[in-house]
Amino acid sequence: MIVSAYRLLFDSNKAGQVLGAFNTHNLEVTKAIIEGAEETGYPALVQISPGSVELSGYETISAIFHSLAKKAAVPLALHLDHGRSFEEVKRAVEAGFHSIMIDGSQLSYEDNVELTRKVVSYCHERDIPVEAELGVISGKEDDLQVEEHGYTDPRVAADFCEKTNCDLLAVSIGNVHGLRKDVAINLQILQELKTLTATPLVIHGGSGISQEIVRQFKEYGVRKVNFSSELKNALIRSVGERYIANPGEYDIVSVTKAEVRAIKQVVMDKLLILN
Ligand SMILES: [Zn+2]
Repeated sequence: MIVSAYRLLFDSNKAGQVLGAFNTHNLEVTKAIIEGAEETGYPALVQISPGSVELSGYETISAIFHSLAKKAAVPLALHLDHGRSFEEVKRAVEAGFHSIMIDGSQLSYEDNVELTRKVVSYCHERDIPVEAELGVISGKEDDLQVEEHGYTDPRVAADFCEKTNCDLLAVSIGNVHGLRKDVAINLQILQELKTLTATPLVIHGGSGISQEIVRQFKEYGVRKVNFSSELKNALIRSVGERYIANPGEYDIVSVTKAEVRAIKQVVMDKLLILN
């Protein structure tokens, strides 16, 4: 079922759960995410970044989500991941997205505050929660490759949340975008962030973080964890294996079904580790 993103956040918080947020690109990935959530019984956010939206368009991906999610047995909502401008936010909201991220982390602190405030004002009028980002998460996100890594300063985070009134804050504590194996999470900073800000925290780059750490996030005020790279890798690996096994393969129905099963398994594993 489709619920408001505030409802999703409120209910999962009340139940002591961490929301899994999974990146989609098309019909198959959306279907796999929703089926994975249904099979575990946990609510989930389906999210998409502006770069991935280019494959289908805001209206099309929203229509795909709504068509599949309304029949689902678990609460679901559609979230814009890494919105970079007010215009992108507006396009997503007008297409029926339920939740928004505005990522002004590449801007100066003052400009990030200003852009986030503008988006918060627009979204709150429409009962849509806003996730903001402070601190630079390295790795590859969309078409942006970020090399340097800047931890989120807990004192600055408290000031940022107060000034912007954002509903969720994506933080940088050593998490990176992508499938790197050398990810070192600084739980000390996460603890300080929890102590100094009342705003629920979001961790991006969940794919590269060990199960042991992901399991602990709940205790540190983390309410949403994003997973993207592992889903994408499952898709590409599944199709690649079929091609290697048989270069003459053309049964797209069975290849696509296998791809959906592979992504669904990743989603199920992540939801069970989170909770
Ligand atoms: Zn991200």
